[in-house]
Amino acid sequence: MSALAKNYKRKNISFIRGDGSFLFSTDGKKYLDFVQGIAVNSLGHSNKFLIKAINKQAKKVWHVSNAFKIPEGEILAKKLVNRTFADSVIFQNSGAEATETAIKVARRYFYSIGKPKKNRIICIKNSFHGRTLAAIHASGSKKMTEGFGPKIPGFDHFEFGNHEKLKKLINKNTAAIMIETIMGEGGIKVIPNWCIRAIRKLCNKKKILLILDEVQCGIGRSGKFFAFEYAKVKPDIVPIAKGIGGGFPIGAVLMTKKVSKAMIPGTHGSTFGGNPLSMAVGNAVLSQINEKLLNNVNKMSKHFISNLLKIKEKYPNIIKDVRGVGLLIGLQLFNDQTRFIKKLMDNKLLTIRAAENVIRILPPLNVKKSEINLALKIINKVCKELN
Ligand SMILES: *Cc1c(COP(=O)(O)O)cnc(C)c1O
Repeated sequence: MSALAKNYKRKNISFIRGDGSFLFSTDGKKYLDFVQGIAVNSLGHSNKFLIKAINKQAKKVWHVSNAFKIPEGEILAKKLVNRTFADSVIFQNSGAEATETAIKVARRYFYSIGKPKKNRIICIKNSFHGRTLAAIHASGSKKMTEGFGPKIPGFDHFEFGNHEKLKKLINKNTAAIMIETIMGEGGIKVIPNWCIRAIRKLCNKKKILLILDEVQCGIGRSGKFFAFEYAKVKPDIVPIAKGIGGGFPIGAVLMTKKVSKAMIPGTHGSTFGGNPLSMAVGNAVLSQINEKLLNNVNKMSKHFISNLLKIKEKYPNIIKDVRGVGLLIGLQLFNDQTRFIKKLMDNKLLTIRAAENVIRILPPLNVKKSEINLALKIINKVCKELN
């Protein structure tokens, strides 16, 4: 009997080793891993460059308190600022912490300018911002909040696409709109560029902040460094996590100078966030998210999606939609996807579910064409079997 709590429905499979896009199970089988720890291992398993970076830092110093200056974190923050809209960064350990911090920054900003009542955050109903108490109430999902009352106040919700409701929700107490640029857990729902732009305009008009949650779609996954770059907008606050650590837990909040001024000493902190070991890994990951890698994401994405669309044409009764941007790809089925995912796994392809009968496909950003072709072959085979 497992001593682990039962809060996960785990598949009965374990791995002893990973190599790039592949995982090797304890029972000697080789799997093509298109989950990659849910968009976390941006550079695949056992990346040589990352192994070198983590070993080098491990021999120097792992952890010191944020009471001291941490040069590795200074460097990573500077690199993030140089590449993006942001002027400053706070490091955390996870996505949920990053989104919580984003909420704290938004509220503290209005507090700091003498508007403490401006503290409500508008979110998309059933979006995903993590599993902490504030993050589940930001989502407003019944499934995630059930049994975890009392409800955390301060969040208002509109349904995906209901722009009229969104406009109506904004009042004098609204501090920010917080949305995922691409809804990952929600079923790889891409928010159109015109819509992101309209929300930015709305925020400007109402003098409220725009928080774009890029925990899943950020750091090159979309084919641009941030997915919101497609819409050519500048957000005020952006939580990141998954891809930036390449498998090492790192979260961060990126923000403009305007809002970061509110985060004076003592307003926020973390024991582990931004420690030297994590920052060394983050620096190594970021150095690899270059033009060449982004070109690979875009090329592989085109190849993958165009061929998935061909499979959809061949099996119009099974596949309802192929969607996504870059290497954040969703295959929406007409029926529940559990059996399909199981069959893919039996054929040595690992994928993961998302809402709305979607199968999420998340290759590493340095995936090879031959690996995508292998996945296409397996997906085609499973469609044929289930047809
Ligand atoms: C995964 C995810 C989170 C939460 O990240 P954790 O590291 O699991 O806390 C938050 N927002 C989005 C968009 C995510 O995909």
